[in-house]
Amino acid sequence: MSPFDGKAQKKRFFTAGVCGFCHGVRRAISIFEQACSEHKSKIYVLHELVHNTFVSRNMLVRGAVFVDSIDDIPAGAVAMIGAHGVSPQLEKLMRERFTVIDSTCPRVKTLQTMAENVKPDEELIMLCKKGHPEAVGVLGYSGTEKIYPVSDVQDAANLPELKNAVLLSQTTMSGAFVREIHELLKKRFPELEFIGNICDASSKRQSSVEKLAENCRCVLVVGSPHSSNAAELVGVAERCGVAAYLVENGNAVTSDMLAGADTVGVTAGASTPDELIDDVKKRLSELGYSDGDVCNG
Ligand code: SF4
Repeated sequence: MSPFDGKAQKKRFFTAGVCGFCHGVRRAISIFEQACSEHKSKIYVLHELVHNTFVSRNMLVRGAVFVDSIDDIPAGAVAMIGAHGVSPQLEKLMRERFTVIDSTCPRVKTLQTMAENVKPDEELIMLCKKGHPEAVGVLGYSGTEKIYPVSDVQDAANLPELKNAVLLSQTTMSGAFVREIHELLKKRFPELEFIGNICDASSKRQSSVEKLAENCRCVLVVGSPHSSNAAELVGVAERCGVAAYLVENGNAVTSDMLAGADTVGVTAGASTPDELIDDVKKRLSELGYSDGDVCNG
């Protein structure tokens, strides 16, 4: 029986079958925790370990110090590379100055290797959020100096004539966006080689939110505003034609968001911990919604 049977009878919320922490984020947090027990000193983290404010606050309590530049890290300190990775140039500098702990997600490492293997006479097009740490890191590995970051259709249309282009995507882009741009570019560059797609964790969360959106009037995505993959989940739900909101926790859920919605879908980005998903569900219960089950599609 579908979990949505009888949904018209009362207000209910449904949870995405795949949501919240991905394996890369779990791994990065576990590496940080292990570092805390092994090193009694502060642990300097470049940018953020993962893009979630709640996770970062908990890390501060454990002794993390977040910095925007390696110049803010004292020589000899313990410095951590987050799940998004860094460029090889930056990693080399870090290893010369600090004790480095690397929590780059293995899936991002694969992308870095793909970029490194691009030949000097080829052009590398990367579908990405410009300036995102993962994109900066991956492009730093590029084997060619001919680099073209593409964030939207306009960027794709503005590309010059390319002779030997290869295409890869940041791991957390929308699958629909990647397919659209790939199709568009293939028309212009028939020999285009597509070497790296979004990661499995992102595609599973995006498929799962599509199922939710097909069956709910409103979708809440739990995540921080600077989380790329959480923002993509909002976009996926909206493209399915439902109202979708990014909420950091239960306090951010308002009656206005839910106006007229008898069924609400709950999902979360890959950097969102279970505590926050539970907090949003608790808030929905307070607003009169009962737990309708997990939506596996
Ligand atoms: S979203 Fe994908 S690439 Fe990013 S940390 Fe998770 S598994 Fe790794």
